[in-house]
Amino acid sequence: MESFLDNIIKSDLASGKVSKIITRFPPEPNGFLHIGHAKSICLNFGLAERYGGVCNLRFDDTNPLKEENEYVRSIIEDVKWLGFDPPIFYASDYFDVMYKCAVKLIKAGKAYVDDMTAEELRQARGTLTEGGKESKHRNRPIAESLEMFEDMKNGRVADGALVLRTKIDMASPNINMRDPVIYRVLNTPHHRQGDKWCIYPMYDFAHPLEDAIEGITHSICTLEFEDHRPLYDWVLDNCWEGPRPHQYEFARLDITRTIMSKRYLKMLVDKKQVAGWDDPRMPTLAGLRRRGFSPSAIKSFCADIGVAKANSQVNSAQLEFSIRDELNMTASRAMAVLDPLELVLTNNTTEQTLSFEVNPNAEKPKKRRISFGQKIYIEREDFEVNPPPKYNRLTPDGMVRLKNAYIIKCTGYEQDKNGKVTKVIAEIIEGTKSGQDKSGIKVKGVIHWVNASDCVDIETRLYDYLLKDGEGSFEERFSDDSLIIKHGKAEKYLGKAKKAERFQFLRNGYFVRDSKENGLVFNRIVGLKDGYKK
Ligand code: ATP
Ligand code: MG
Repeated sequence: MESFLDNIIKSDLASGKVSKIITRFPPEPNGFLHIGHAKSICLNFGLAERYGGVCNLRFDDTNPLKEENEYVRSIIEDVKWLGFDPPIFYASDYFDVMYKCAVKLIKAGKAYVDDMTAEELRQARGTLTEGGKESKHRNRPIAESLEMFEDMKNGRVADGALVLRTKIDMASPNINMRDPVIYRVLNTPHHRQGDKWCIYPMYDFAHPLEDAIEGITHSICTLEFEDHRPLYDWVLDNCWEGPRPHQYEFARLDITRTIMSKRYLKMLVDKKQVAGWDDPRMPTLAGLRRRGFSPSAIKSFCADIGVAKANSQVNSAQLEFSIRDELNMTASRAMAVLDPLELVLTNNTTEQTLSFEVNPNAEKPKKRRISFGQKIYIEREDFEVNPPPKYNRLTPDGMVRLKNAYIIKCTGYEQDKNGKVTKVIAEIIEGTKSGQDKSGIKVKGVIHWVNASDCVDIETRLYDYLLKDGEGSFEERFSDDSLIIKHGKAEKYLGKAKKAERFQFLRNGYFVRDSKENGLVFNRIVGLKDGYKK
């Protein structure tokens, strides 16, 4: 879908300002990618595709404290899974260039070494309404700053003891322009550079240089960086000659009841509140993949939500809609009972073979044969001794249709000493076979079932959102019952389900066979209708 960015690019190409566009997706490898990143990926790669350009995958790996190779690996996997095969770059490969740019700034009198602590820097920075205070070291002689910066680089300075700051304007109405720190000391090895560096550049200094080095034409980021754009331009004005990238901002994706912060997602993983980054409840691409989402559904979601310049929230139902729509067309139908209750059909003494439609929406609908014997399983909630009003499933004297089979009539049931129903007894009504029923008997309900003699045991995992509805912090809204595990029965055919294969379980929703577990574990992708909740 086109956005305001298409118009900018079209006009830049038409005016000859650029001859070929280069965009980039620049994740910091400090966590797994989430659905918000997918929006940025689809946007950047989409623009490159539409206008014959290129989109780089660049790791913004400038902070050795939080970054790991494991995240680099997962990010590459996720981007490829979405269907893109980009050239890959690492910001840390540009540390030499960045260092030279910093030296150039010092020599030009545009940067100085300061010894303020993080707290002092924060206090001296001022507020939105009040200017900042100049450091007493602001006019440190150039030679002295050069020497101190050299010491920082050579590991002679403790973490945090010195910083390199630009000399811009402590009175600027834009706080980002008040002599921001561009280098800090971190005596920490880097996951790719080893112990080559003990100074590391800050984002606002590093990012424009990374873009310029790669020849990025349109550097697209989220709105919170709008106030950083003057600094982005200042760095390029003072450090870079040659073709210039330009920064444009768009609204980040925010989804109701969904956590969209890597820091908080990492906390859930670290505290084991979820079973890892790929827990199917996580909004990470790895989680969504394991949950059964497809790249095409995620891309179609990203296309539908569009790209705007004002922040807003997207309803989580919209993401579910994208996959439900697709699965309705593609998923094979199957019968599975999540919470089984035994039902004996006294007059169905010989096992019959019935036919079952695999997918009514397929181009060439196919049928599958299923057996139907004396003992079957139905869903526990499809039988009620004391039915509530308007209940149209099976009751002690009632009738119901078994999907693709017969109308049955209940003739009895057994209970344990607590009153829990342990068995239902019924008979089939001859002449009511689905597709051949001329009996004229009308029943309100149709229920699914599983044949006992050849069924398989399955585990199903039903998911809800990680956050409860309402206001408050993530901690306050964290839901403790976002996962329900059930042990059920499924038709024989599901015993051969492949890992990651998707199905519609009649009346129960869309499910995917878990890609990690070896047993027959099925994750519910989404319910059949909006707003399902078990
Ligand atoms: P988080 O806040 O989750 O940690 P981040 O912005 O720090 O995310 P990065 O790895 O720096 O994560 O993000 C890489 C790119 O993805 C950036 O260009 C960023 O603007 C974009 N991005 C991150 N979150 C979203 C989002 N919710 N919607 C759209 N784009 C996003
Ligand atoms: Mg970031």
